[in-house]
Amino acid sequence: MTAQIIDGKQVAADMRAELKAEVAKLKEKGIVPALGVILVGDDPASKYYVTAKERTCEEIGIYSDDNRLPAETSQKDLMALVEKMNNDPKINGILVQLPLPKHLDEAEILLAIDPDKDVDGFHPMNVGRMVVGEKAFLPCTPHGVIQLLIRSGVTIEGAEVVIVGRSDIVGKPLASMLIQKQPNRNATVTVCHTRTKNLAFHTKGADILIAAADRPNTITADMVKEGVVVIDVGINRVDDTTKKKGYRLVGDVDFEAVKEKASFITPVPGGVGPMTITMLLYNTVEAAKRIAALK
Ligand code: NAP
Repeated sequence: MTAQIIDGKQVAADMRAELKAEVAKLKEKGIVPALGVILVGDDPASKYYVTAKERTCEEIGIYSDDNRLPAETSQKDLMALVEKMNNDPKINGILVQLPLPKHLDEAEILLAIDPDKDVDGFHPMNVGRMVVGEKAFLPCTPHGVIQLLIRSGVTIEGAEVVIVGRSDIVGKPLASMLIQKQPNRNATVTVCHTRTKNLAFHTKGADILIAAADRPNTITADMVKEGVVVIDVGINRVDDTTKKKGYRLVGDVDFEAVKEKASFITPVPGGVGPMTITMLLYNTVEAAKRIAALK
């Protein structure tokens, strides 16, 4: 069997077109969805992500309130900016780009964001709501993974899902979302990590295997069964002298070998990556729709 490649760029483009139409409807009601963006310092990867987020906002018609602060910004000044955005009725969502410079207390900043504007879904209030199955802003990468599965026609209900990785931003929230007693969830979930005794024993039993280990080749062809659906969240740089930059991006899965056994597989890049920003903007539009419902 050769897998069908799940085209994350296409799924993300479809979702962005849907969001653009929703934004146009909101604008007819006089509501312009707005995302407050805070970037502290000059980290090149963070700058790249923030620029990509702002560009996508523009494409969809979301107003982006761009705040680029120097690396030496104090905790007090950053807290004051978050508070200002919390109290600004024109701002629907707040994004503080992580990681913050080391002298800043990240947890305190994230806790200060109004949970109703927490479009990253990292505030403990949203995490709690998600765990108990209440309406919440869902964290963007795991929500993007679920959208890729649903929009590829993969049945999640009743599936044996194995997640490799238990981080607070990918593995744990994904497990929590997939076990909800809801349509398009209801999976049986196993979460593996570095203390898992026999990783292959678990991965071989997976109908859906989600790799978020941050390590190339964590999943090889002998670790999966025929017909498995593979979602590769990992993004790793490996040296490649044939590339101008001297490296290329790969996931956590041995893509070439595993695709010969899988029924569906995501590439890296072009799989989960394009979904993450899209889900952030999905949450921003959701936040604006809540305001519209109140009008
Ligand atoms: P992380 O915080 O480093 O967590 C990695 C997890 O994988 C940990 O729970 C670790 O176990 C587990 N792990 C590592 N090696 C393992 C192994 N050999 N066997 C079993 N478990 C193993 O990473 P993250 O933030 O969740 O991100 C995961 C990957 O996704 C990264 O490559 C990241 O760049 C990528 N990512 C992509 C997007 C996107 O938009 N596409 C978004 C977020 C993250 P322990 O807990 O025991 O250490």
